Amino acid sequence: MSLTISYDPQNIFAQIIRGDAPCYRLYEDDDVLAFLDLFPQSFGHALVIPKRSAACNILDVDSEALCKVMAVVQKLTRVIVDELQPDGVQIAQFNGAPAGQTVFHIHVHIVPRYAGEGLGVHAAGKAEPAELEKLQARLVEAIARSGI
Ligand code: 5GP
Repeated sequence: MSLTISYDPQNIFAQIIRGDAPCYRLYEDDDVLAFLDLFPQSFGHALVIPKRSAACNILDVDSEALCKVMAVVQKLTRVIVDELQPDGVQIAQFNGAPAGQTVFHIHVHIVPRYAGEGLGVHAAGKAEPAELEKLQARLVEAIARSGI
């Protein structure tokens, strides 16, 4: 059962944390990393993960790491909303394959929503690197201005 699997240190987010795989980084501190989703469901779709917690999901993450992640989720959501001006924003977190989880390192999705635009298919449809780079630069600048 994917809710109780043991943590695989080779999962893609663990590789990103170690620097073994690339990402479009938005924010990083000692405990938390935020980056753009490679298969965005909307413009500005970002992911926030704990760096020091080898946790698959909400059941096994320690509460201190979770609190640090959620604090960054809130700050980053404020910046994304301010910069991209979506009409709504979804904060999502999936646990176990039947719930939609595909990467088994706990993470929180920030998904801006725009009136009249449907949600893209989950974890499908890779974004163009040039678009991700442009968006990354825009959001990194906005994050720097915000002082988070
Ligand atoms: P989950 O389905 O586990 O809740 O979310 C995993 C998310 O990671 C999906 O939205 C998927 O698009 C994204 N994703 C999968 N592989 C990569 C990758 O290599 N890099 C990045 N930045 N995102 C990824």
